[in-house]
Amino acid sequence: MKDPATPPTSVDGEPILFPRGVHDIRPRAQQFLEDESLQSAVREATTLKDQARRDVLKEAFGDDVDQIRSIAGEIKRHTIDHLDHYIETWIERAEAAGTRVHLASDHQEANRIVVEIAREKNAKLCVKSKSMVTEETHLLPQLEAAGVETVETDLGEFIIQIDDDAPSHIVMPMIHKDRKSVARAFVRELGAEYTEEPEQLTRIAREHLREKYRRADLGISGGNFLVAESGSLVLCTNEGNGRFCTSAPPTHIAVVGIEKLVPAFKDLWFLLHLLARSATGQPLTCYTQVLTGPRRPDDLDGPEEMHVVLVDAGRTRILADPQFRESLGCIRCGACLNACPVYRKATGHAYGSVYSGPIGAVITPLLQGLDRNPTLPEASSLCGACYEACPVNIDLPRMLVALRRKTRKRRGTTGERMALWGMRMAFSSDRYYRIAATIHRYLLRCFSGGSDRLRSAPGPLSGWTRDRDLILPASRSFRKRWRDRGGAVR
Ligand code: SF4
Repeated sequence: MKDPATPPTSVDGEPILFPRGVHDIRPRAQQFLEDESLQSAVREATTLKDQARRDVLKEAFGDDVDQIRSIAGEIKRHTIDHLDHYIETWIERAEAAGTRVHLASDHQEANRIVVEIAREKNAKLCVKSKSMVTEETHLLPQLEAAGVETVETDLGEFIIQIDDDAPSHIVMPMIHKDRKSVARAFVRELGAEYTEEPEQLTRIAREHLREKYRRADLGISGGNFLVAESGSLVLCTNEGNGRFCTSAPPTHIAVVGIEKLVPAFKDLWFLLHLLARSATGQPLTCYTQVLTGPRRPDDLDGPEEMHVVLVDAGRTRILADPQFRESLGCIRCGACLNACPVYRKATGHAYGSVYSGPIGAVITPLLQGLDRNPTLPEASSLCGACYEACPVNIDLPRMLVALRRKTRKRRGTTGERMALWGMRMAFSSDRYYRIAATIHRYLLRCFSGGSDRLRSAPGPLSGWTRDRDLILPASRSFRKRWRDRGGAVR
């Protein structure tokens, strides 16, 4: 098990999720680009999930998908615009239901509140379900330092924990791991027989965790939504571990970002359908829990005490900025990661944050400071795939460009400025565009040596082909084909 004093595994001496000083995504991405097995694992998983998302959305909503996304986006935008009102309503109703609510302005305060509750309860063993905010606050080492053994119970997070690793995807934390590394970790840390069979590996983890649930005196979770009208906390999980963590131990603490509010159950219904479909391609997650206060006298189970820690940690600063407040509407489905060509190649650990992919490239600099993450907004081709995939219509490309504007103080080299001037000319007139396209096609053919792809671009353009081939345009352009078929061309 990892030493509680140290953050998760490091890359070249730098902690993966909490790099010291200024973080540069480029050298890390370069390192991961050279790892063939990592590349194929991430490519395979993201392609599958991305396709599953498209299929189930089409199946459920047909041609109305965009309209559904707009409505969902409006729900979150409205909530964020009136966040103070909904937070107050939620607190009032949650407290009326018996929940103890705590407000944490930053990571340290959030951790301190949780550790104090654990101490007050004399907790020795804590079972924890998946929570991005506790990754963000780096809670586990604090609990361990306070003498509380803390066990991650989401299968992916459990494997990450025992293998001293760090999550690399919002929804699929161990997307970067293969069966062999899991099998080796189980032999080393749990004394299990070596097996690569997923069913056997799951059985080993389940047996190990059941014992922990039985003995735990504290359960910690995150929260997918907070419903203002009832003061409820909503958890979406697929493994049932969330139910054990929130109902078996006598005390349950949920650590949740303040942006997780939704006004009412009718809004929740809408977002739940989009969350599961966008995250994993399921119609709904296997377990959707709605928790409103601790156990009541006639309840069969549930905790004696329920605490919710509402974490700000930079969120109100984002809320105050009209350019970026839209990012708080994120429901952490991970669809933008699966759709993003940069995430697929760079992979999650390159981002140096619990939030990776396009949403990570936006919110990490906003939460931690752009000065500490100046290159993250550059980690995008601005192709718009993230915007198209987002179930709540968050305009990530717009915010990436806005962040780039803030970081770019230099005017670029003479070569860059000339290239951009040339592009502007080409796109400014139909005639220039056709001339530029013809020259472009001709040059690519010259440099490709007769192949259908360019494997090595010359001089300063070589960066484009260092890690991928450039597929050549068709020998006959679309305009030519269109004209040959009798279509009108200007
Ligand atoms: S930005 Fe949109 S697509 Fe990306 S994780 Fe958030 S909700 Fe999902």
